[in-house]
Amino acid sequence: FAINMDQLQLDEELGKGNYGTVKKVLHKPTNVAMAMKEIRLELEDAKLNAIIMELDVLHRAVAPEIVEFYGAFFIESCVYYCMEYMDAGSLDKLQGAGVPEDVLARIASSMVRGLKFLKDDLNIIHRDVKPTNVLVNRKGEIKLCDFGISGELDKSLAKTNIGCQSYMAPERIKGESQNNLGTYTVSSDVWSLGLSMIEIGLGRYPYPPETYSNVFAQLTAIVHGDPPELDETKYSEVAREWVAMCLRKDPERRASYRELLEHPFLKKDETSDVNMVEWVEKALAHKATAALLASKAQLPQSV
Ligand code: ATP
Ligand code: MG
Repeated sequence: FAINMDQLQLDEELGKGNYGTVKKVLHKPTNVAMAMKEIRLELEDAKLNAIIMELDVLHRAVAPEIVEFYGAFFIESCVYYCMEYMDAGSLDKLQGAGVPEDVLARIASSMVRGLKFLKDDLNIIHRDVKPTNVLVNRKGEIKLCDFGISGELDKSLAKTNIGCQSYMAPERIKGESQNNLGTYTVSSDVWSLGLSMIEIGLGRYPYPPETYSNVFAQLTAIVHGDPPELDETKYSEVAREWVAMCLRKDPERRASYRELLEHPFLKKDETSDVNMVEWVEKALAHKATAALLASKAQLPQSV
């Protein structure tokens, strides 16, 4: 059955991205909490319809590492997209409390399995792998969202936001400047996966804008500099080697999903009894404290 706006009770905002806003909603007929993404597109109805039709393949994207899709519709010039609500939010906001190696391994293996499923079963390349698109819930599950299924949608979103935080592989950054689009391969996602692992392990984006005088300098560092590495004081040689396999500058030499799954870093994860539920609780508590401190810092002195 198809979801429509009348069935939804709108709750709080969960976050804002470059293209729209995500709200928590309640689907009243089924009492299921969902996350609804609103994307404003100035397009005629035929184009919007085409996007809704393309999004329909998402109903087949069912796997433990993929955020479930419930349906999409449009009203006026906005596309609304309803998906599984992940009650611990995205990884970018959970990494602050620190990520021990067994947790990092579980995140890595979930991401690789999700990406491999998309590729092998649906022939989809994600194209937007980054910590804000890795969602977590209090059950300790880790799932991917926001993969590029709709060509129409992709064309309509102005992809002007290179820079600030680019997870794009060096060959893609170079390709863009030669106006050579359409060369996206799985190995570009593998780079973004590696960079996400570095960010999660470090607690911040590895090419901080403060360090570079402008976006050009930052992108130059990604293309011409040595790839970042996991901190050797925090992570084992096995973990560091795994991430390095993702971050080889030459896309031909970058690891495949199969190699990544067969590497000792993820082999060990298969039998590890890492307590993800406990880590998620700790990370959420840390996030709440940080938010409280930030709000106190903004209060006037007299309070
Ligand atoms: P970009 O616009 O570059 O993709 P983004 O991924 O941060 O950046 P959105 O996809 O619009 O932007 O998501 C905004 C925020 O909403 C995310 O950072 C995440 O914290 C939250 N969010 C998105 N989807 C869900 C979901 N299904 N459940 C819970 N929170 C979500
Ligand atoms: Mg997103």
